[in-house]
Amino acid sequence: MIEKIIKAGEIASKVREEAKKMIKPGVKLLEVANFVENRIKELGGEPAFPCNLSINDVAAHYTPKVNDELEFKEDDVVKLDLGVHVDGYIADTAVTVDLSNSYKDLVKASEDALREVINNIEIPMNIGEMGRIIEEVIKSYGYKPIANLSGHVMYRYELHTGVSIPNVYEKTNKTIDVGDLVAIEPFATNGFGMVKDGPLGNIYKFLAKRPIRLLKAKKMLDEIAKKYPFLPFAERWVLKDEKDKIALNSLLKANAIYGYPVLKEREGGIVSQAEHTIYITENKIIVITK
Ligand code: MN
Ligand code: MN
Repeated sequence: MIEKIIKAGEIASKVREEAKKMIKPGVKLLEVANFVENRIKELGGEPAFPCNLSINDVAAHYTPKVNDELEFKEDDVVKLDLGVHVDGYIADTAVTVDLSNSYKDLVKASEDALREVINNIEIPMNIGEMGRIIEEVIKSYGYKPIANLSGHVMYRYELHTGVSIPNVYEKTNKTIDVGDLVAIEPFATNGFGMVKDGPLGNIYKFLAKRPIRLLKAKKMLDEIAKKYPFLPFAERWVLKDEKDKIALNSLLKANAIYGYPVLKEREGGIVSQAEHTIYITENKIIVITK
């Protein structure tokens, strides 16, 4: 098990560093997302979720759609968030690329918060205390942590089901402990400090088999249930072309799949994110996505 966790982490860091360099003005988001997902497979892993490329006030959950023409622009602040699984064991990591060069401090705030919280973990670690460290570091830069986004404990094939790691202080008895695989992801903003739901971001998850009349949609649901029973998938992964969108929409309507909305800063603030996955053993904390 630990070998699989370490391997997922190694693939995730390698692909993150390679993909980071591709994010330049004029480059298509689709090109980077395809690279990330193909490279993960090439290195012996599977994408744990679609490559997220979220820009400026979008904090998370945008992935390019089929034939997406969107390009990075000169003043974009880009969150690249990717996940790798090896036999269900997940590594989740993110980095912010500031193409504008005007938000260096904002980027540093989330990176620094991530570093500080990892360096100060004492096992068992109270998750409210983790939130306190993140909040303090981000505020010391004059920014706000995003209070309604959080890190998460992961189980095999399960991304967000365990304990949440808050990005602000909270009073709680919950802890993380030996054996936990934990994604820590501070978000910083010059806005309000909360996100709200935006339009769908082309990321979905399977909910349940439902009676579907349209044959094309029925076949699509069978494929989804078989290939992505547990983890999120991209519209791109199941549509051959845009015409198949009708089938996908009928699955949404039938409550057979769930569509994730993009998460936007409540007052349109610019958002930065940094994320690592750690694995806690008896005697040490391993940052598997370093
Ligand atoms: Mn992530
Ligand atoms: Mn995460």
